[in-house]
Amino acid sequence: MPFHLDDLDLDSIPDPYHSVLRRMAAAVEDRAVTPAVAIKVIREHLVPLLSDVDSALVSIQGQPSWDKIRTLYPALVFASESQQKQLLAAIGRLIELFVRHSDRPPREIDFPPFIEVFSFNRVCGYLGVPIAKPLLETNDGTRDLYRFCKYCWLPARRKDVCAFHTTSFDEASAARSQPACAHISLKQAQRLRTAFEQHVLALTTRDEMEFHQSGFDLPALLPPSGLSHWLDVRRPHLASLVRKQADTSANSLRILSAVLYGEELGAKVVEAIGGAVYLWTPITTRAEGWLAAWAAKSPRGGARRRGIKLLEV
Ligand SMILES: [Zn+2]
Ligand SMILES: [Zn+2]
Repeated sequence: MPFHLDDLDLDSIPDPYHSVLRRMAAAVEDRAVTPAVAIKVIREHLVPLLSDVDSALVSIQGQPSWDKIRTLYPALVFASESQQKQLLAAIGRLIELFVRHSDRPPREIDFPPFIEVFSFNRVCGYLGVPIAKPLLETNDGTRDLYRFCKYCWLPARRKDVCAFHTTSFDEASAARSQPACAHISLKQAQRLRTAFEQHVLALTTRDEMEFHQSGFDLPALLPPSGLSHWLDVRRPHLASLVRKQADTSANSLRILSAVLYGEELGAKVVEAIGGAVYLWTPITTRAEGWLAAWAAKSPRGGARRRGIKLLEV
């Protein structure tokens, strides 16, 4: 049967779900599992296990495709973490197993590595806004601006870190017009990482929950006008940093880009993103999480260094 239950390690799955998996396999019979078949089986056998509210998490819009079905698993795990509902993660896991093992060899699944980008894509999907990733041409190749450094919001250059958060970075060269995250040392960035990730997750969760609760009305995406107000409401730490740099001549997107990337790179990013300003959203989520984590940490422990004043909120 084309849901290859015998390929699964059933011991890793809680008992009550074995019968669910068997019913799914029986429903498929000998048919090849297309996206349409998969979504039908998911609707008939998994959705009824969820409450009415939660079942919305398993809805996909338009034509079923593997890409859309693949987003269900992280969506459920994400909701499970933020709402403390184990069942959601379990259902997500069953979907993952079903997608993987309804083919042989198992279907590969890869997920966007950054929760804030994943959530942003979902919000774009709900709003019917095109999902794009901003690319930046540099001297050494094309950089995906959403492929973040693990310690900050800059694009990773190599090995998951940006130009500033490597051991080879010369701190003495950190000039005034560097991105805000370049003003702390690699050691400090490493110590900040866990809190940083927690703040990003919390902020992402809050934004997406409020967006849903508002009936998709909440301005979750960075708007084409009213940037300062949006920052004040949705990204307060970033807003105060932007305000500090503000002089009357520059527009707020210019200042935001300089705070986030430094002046030189910032200008290039403004150009690369152009009018699709909503693409700044996940970058601001990450920066806000970072600044909030920095602001929340104890002022002791050698944090008082050159440049750090800039980050005082
Ligand atoms: Zn950085
Ligand atoms: Zn970095």
